[in-house]
Parts: sequence; structure tokens; C-alpha cells
Amino acid sequence: MSKCTICPRQCGADRETERGFCGADNRIRIARAALHMWEEPPICGTGGSGTIFFSGCSLGCEFCQNALLSQQNYGTVITAARLYEIMFELESQGAVNINLVTADHYIPYILPALRSAKSDGLKIPILLNTSSYLKLSALEMLDGTVDIYLADLKFTSRDAAMKYCSAPDYPEIARRAIAHMTKAAGKPVIENGIMKKGVIVRVLVLPGNIIDAKASIRYLYETYGDDIYISIMGQYVPMPDCRHHELQHKLSSKMYRSVIKYACALGIKNGFIQDQESADRAYIPQFDCQGVIKQC
Ligand code: SF4
Repeated sequence: MSKCTICPRQCGADRETERGFCGADNRIRIARAALHMWEEPPICGTGGSGTIFFSGCSLGCEFCQNALLSQQNYGTVITAARLYEIMFELESQGAVNINLVTADHYIPYILPALRSAKSDGLKIPILLNTSSYLKLSALEMLDGTVDIYLADLKFTSRDAAMKYCSAPDYPEIARRAIAHMTKAAGKPVIENGIMKKGVIVRVLVLPGNIIDAKASIRYLYETYGDDIYISIMGQYVPMPDCRHHELQHKLSSKMYRSVIKYACALGIKNGFIQDQESADRAYIPQFDCQGVIKQC
């Protein structure tokens, strides 16, 4: 793709010959394809979520918990045909969905494999696990193919989005993207404890950014009520490359509890909270290319 404008960065890279801001060229690169048990309960069920972790990222948050992938672009190049096979392998291992983690900058490259898998009998839902820093033109390509959106609303403040991601336009873009996702997926459907379609929006509570997290939660609830699930995450783990002082320590339990109390007072019923024990590096998956190469 010459002059790539897939994402809002619109960096114009010629992906045939170079990598863009996101770190990606015209090849699909992934770092892990395996069952994962640490998502929200209806995303994991008892079988696990069939996560496929993509390399690179178009948003590039300073505090990213998967910095090895998003910032260092760790991973192995695969073909679209191999991606197709991986989805069926994960399904046969018991996955309750296919969870495309940070695939935003690959959407046109992976779309044929996703569509083929569905038309060839993949029974489990396809889930887009996204920063929500997405153009509508990219999201619209996924209409009718993606069943579940596991989206972030990282910031409501433009200043915070600028400070941590150099993306002051993030709040407007993410809100517009979430509006599209809710239209495309409809109200949540959960059968026997497993999500089949719908939208979950995650708000990661960052230390020093409590007011913004509350503003994001309020916006989501006032706009969508219980037509989406809101997942309030307290799992933040400081990463070595965090430049800002407030990000160099974990979120305190007191601050996390204050955000949960705020959400409860709003009246949110469809929500998830975390045990703060998950704020530990042990919960960051091992990126060792498990499941990437076909085993003979
Ligand atoms: S997807 Fe990557 S290459 Fe394309 S515009 Fe965005 S950052 Fe640039």
C-alpha cells in the first residue's frame, strides 16, 4: 500500500518499501496466538479467548503494557493464509472467540482471511481488541465480519492524549469509533456466560489521571447506558520507558476504589472491575511467538 492513510496518523508511508509510524510494512506480523484467560469473564468463558497479538501500534502510548510489540515491533511475519489457519487452530483448542489484539493498522491486510474463515465455517465470534484510534473508513471494512468490539476509551482530555500518546485528536476519534462499533454490533448478547456480540469499552485508570477516567466513564454511561459494558481497569503496571513521574508507580487501591464508587453512583449495571492483584507483570503475556508457526 503506497501512501498509507489507514489510521488517523495518516503518515503516508509506502508500506511496500518502508514501515509506517505504527511499525508495520505490507506484511502481517504477529507475536503470539494462544488461549488467554485474563480478559473480562464473558470474553474468556471457560475455554479461553483465542488471542492473536499483532506487532506494532498506530497509537503508541508511553505506558503500553505490551511495549515489546507496540514499540519494539517484536513478532514473526506470517501470510494471510497462515492467519486463516491459526483461527481454526484456536477454535479447535477450545477458544470461545478470535481476539485480534491491536490489529488496527493491518485491517485491509487481514480482512480477506477473516472473511474467508467466516464463510468457511468458523463458528466462534471474531473480536476486535482495539485502542479505538480508528478511522471510520477502516472500521466500516469490518462491518458484518467483526461480532464483538473490545475497545478502549483511554482519554477524554485532549491534553492527556497529547501528553501520553502525542495524539490530541484521540478523544474525538475514539468517541466516533465507539459510536460506529455500537451501531455495527448492537446490544450485547451473552449466552451461557459467553459473549456472542456487542461492545465492551475499557477505561484503564492511570495514576494521576483519575479525573479523566471518571469523565470517560460518565461519557460512556450517559451516551450508551447499559447498551454497552464498561470495564474499569486497575491493572496498570509501570513500564521502564515511562517518562512521566506519575506513571512510574502503580495505581493506589484508594484511587481505584474511588473510581469504582463513582461508577456505581452513576448507576452502571453492565460493568466489570478488576482485582488489583492483576497489576503485576506476571499478567503480561509471554511473547514468544507461541502458536505462530505451524507445528508439524
Ligand atoms: S496504519 Fe501505520 S502506516 Fe498506515 S497511516 Fe497509520 S501509522 Fe501510517
